[in-house]
Amino acid sequence: MSKCVFCKVVRRELSAEIVEEDDHAVAFRDINPQAPVHILVIPKKHITALDKASEEDVLLLGHLLLMANRAANSQNLTSDYRVVINTGGGAGQSVFHLHLHVLGGRAMGWPPG
Ligand code: AMP
Ligand code: ZN
Repeated sequence: MSKCVFCKVVRRELSAEIVEEDDHAVAFRDINPQAPVHILVIPKKHITALDKASEEDVLLLGHLLLMANRAANSQNLTSDYRVVINTGGGAGQSVFHLHLHVLGGRAMGWPPG
């Protein structure tokens, strides 16, 4: 996945403000934040979107959720944050490497736009 922007972040070919990292995933600040806290959590493995994940990814998907919570905690959010996965262009996905948005630090409306 030589051209994928988030694979480049994983390979350190693109700079990012990383807040959490382990063998399987990276969390870094969104370049265009939509809330005072806006972090992206991505798997190091290239998965295009949630609808392309499979049973072999079951542990990885749980791992991403736990890293999302740790990333929120690292920003002093122990609760009152939102985790979003846009899946497909019609749902707002613009980068086709699976990512979880962790948003917090302001009131969150519902339903989301
Ligand atoms: P989505 O629209 O759900 O695919 O979200 C993609 C997100 O990636 C957007 O919020 C962008 O602001 C963010 N983004 C794109 N490129 C970068 C980058 N190089 N570093 C950090 N965030 C990025
Ligand atoms: Zn990728």
